[in-house]
Amino acid sequence: MKMNILTELAQIGNRRDPYGAISFPVYHSSTFAHPGFGQSTGFDYSRTGNPTRQALEDAMASLEEGTKGFAFSSGMGAITTILSLFSQGEHLLVTEDLYGGTYRILEEVFSRFGLQVTFVDSSDLDTIAKEIRPHTKAIFTETPTNPLMKIADLKGIASLCQKHGLLNIVDNTFLTPYLQKPLTLGADIVIHSGTKYLGGHNDVVAGLVVVQGEELAARFGRLQNSLGATLGPQDSWLIIRGLKTLALRMRAQEENALQIAQWLETHPLVTAVYYPGLKHHPGYATQLEQARGFGAMLSFRVKSPSLIPEILKSLKIISYAESLGGVESLITYPATQTHADIPHEVRTRLGVDDCLLRLSLGIEAAEDLIGDLEQALK
Ligand SMILES: *Cc1c(COP(=O)(O)O)cnc(C)c1O
Repeated sequence: MKMNILTELAQIGNRRDPYGAISFPVYHSSTFAHPGFGQSTGFDYSRTGNPTRQALEDAMASLEEGTKGFAFSSGMGAITTILSLFSQGEHLLVTEDLYGGTYRILEEVFSRFGLQVTFVDSSDLDTIAKEIRPHTKAIFTETPTNPLMKIADLKGIASLCQKHGLLNIVDNTFLTPYLQKPLTLGADIVIHSGTKYLGGHNDVVAGLVVVQGEELAARFGRLQNSLGATLGPQDSWLIIRGLKTLALRMRAQEENALQIAQWLETHPLVTAVYYPGLKHHPGYATQLEQARGFGAMLSFRVKSPSLIPEILKSLKIISYAESLGGVESLITYPATQTHADIPHEVRTRLGVDDCLLRLSLGIEAAEDLIGDLEQALK
């Protein structure tokens, strides 16, 4: 029975424990006894599979409407495993202003194994199409982008992928399956940093992947087991616990984001606000069509870089910290934190310059967050 996502989220892990546990137990066992020669309970060794991780992986597959889910020890563990699908000499098209760690692993690690990458503005389908080469194998899209919140047309990218036989990979960390389901728009692989909204409480590091199609699922499962960056049972349980309130958190956080985006737009020291939920945002219409909402991440630009240290020091509620998606609001300075590994001239060209700040709105009262920003901008 296909349920409303609210029901699905609240019920994760329920009705699958043999003793009737409502909260699915943490199976702290690295190995599992075989009932007889050549027999298995379905679990043999926890790198390969663990009941608590399995409960999470099944839930993710269902939430993203894909064939199979996979849980990893971090978002980067998930991305490493995805990139291992490719071979020397193959070429990928990747969103240009994306998570700094994804940029770093492509440029510093996979480049040494001969994986070629072109970074593209994924909000522009013509640019993407022009960069497709004979040995291009996949398009890896982050939308909204990080930190400039550009929106990619996921259906348009899916039709490019179909036409050229490319694997369609989408990083859905910023929106979660509550707001956007890339697999239903034609993607083959969805990846999440579960550290962010899925966990939602700034207390666990995790990665999640969902793939579409049995053949890809089998291939990807072998890679997950071979590379071994799998999520432990305790952390799997924390993500399950977090997911139960995903919809409630996401709604509250999104409401805060819109209010704060609107307030920032009126502030004399703020020169630009990037939030796809603002009607003048260039991706607004696309986002409205392909997703249920706009998320709770926004970036803004202040008049001068000299204001940044004072703002970051003066905030009393919003913490100056990396990461995003949790119930506590965080602010980052992409130039020196999340995007420090992107060369200065590339960053500046992309607009990730020294005046840009990124906000992850939590579930606090909007009036308190606005009050905090107001006093820090004074
Ligand atoms: C944080 C993040 C990652 C990396 O995930 P980790 O859990 O930190 O390894 C990947 N993509 C996006 C969009 C992220 O925000």
